[in-house]
Amino acid sequence: MKIIRNPQDLQREPSKLTGFVPTMGALHEGHIALINQSKNECDHTVVSIFVNPKQFGPKEDFTKYPRPENRDLELCEKAGVDVVLLPDASSIYDGDSLTICVQGVTEMWEGVHRPGHFDGVATVVAILFNIVRPNIAYFGQKDYQQCAVIDRLVKGLHYDIQLKFVETIREPDGLALSSRNAYLTPEQRSTAPILYQTLFTTKKAIESTPDSTSKIAEYLIEAKDSLNKHGFDVDYFAFVDPTTLEPISRLTQIGRLIVAAKIGNTRLIDNISVVL
Ligand code: AMP
Repeated sequence: MKIIRNPQDLQREPSKLTGFVPTMGALHEGHIALINQSKNECDHTVVSIFVNPKQFGPKEDFTKYPRPENRDLELCEKAGVDVVLLPDASSIYDGDSLTICVQGVTEMWEGVHRPGHFDGVATVVAILFNIVRPNIAYFGQKDYQQCAVIDRLVKGLHYDIQLKFVETIREPDGLALSSRNAYLTPEQRSTAPILYQTLFTTKKAIESTPDSTSKIAEYLIEAKDSLNKHGFDVDYFAFVDPTTLEPISRLTQIGRLIVAAKIGNTRLIDNISVVL
């Protein structure tokens, strides 16, 4: 496995089908699922590990974000990754002179609670795509709105890159794997699966009364109340169109439930599909 710190040293392999998995490290089975899918579908797999300062707000956890570099490299090696790109911020950004802003889908949900976050994501992903020039890029559905943003980015900039959005990997109790789960105290960790359980119960409720706008509105209120009672501080719990992410009031074909909530200082996000 090659470890490349300077993006200029990355040798592209135009004759090989290249799969790319961008990450911020602190790798877990969720990341490994993306890597495995790339390994299955491509000849050459590149993983980037870059804690992107541009996507963190001033009060967010950039400095305390976990950076277990040796462990991450071991996991990549074990997973059969061909190249790990480990750049520092100065080799990615030319000062602060460039920001790529995807409009529309970034202006709701995470975009409201994390101003500037998606500009940071779109900018780094656009730059990494130009460095790596992959044929296929892999992202996790756990960051559902991020998938929508990257989709618009690729279409808007006419990247010749196929996107694959991989299903969320969960703990046996339903909690979505996340590098930020490491922040949870044992007590918070035992509460955290309620987030997914609430998504699941609400999904089932909506699927049983897809036409009833009043009942669906009630289910959403009940879900928020229940999460608040369990000690979560809910940023949003919403039923949305799976493509535009605009709120919807009934289920005609497919919808998505999306949630963001804090337990203590740790902010968790999750989502689930709702199908007629
Ligand atoms: P991150 O390192 O958190 O930026 O995540 C890197 C990639 O892994 C993103 O595309 C995430 O959506 C994806 N990812 C994170 N957690 C999971 C999970 N539990 N299951 C599947 N993919 C995930």
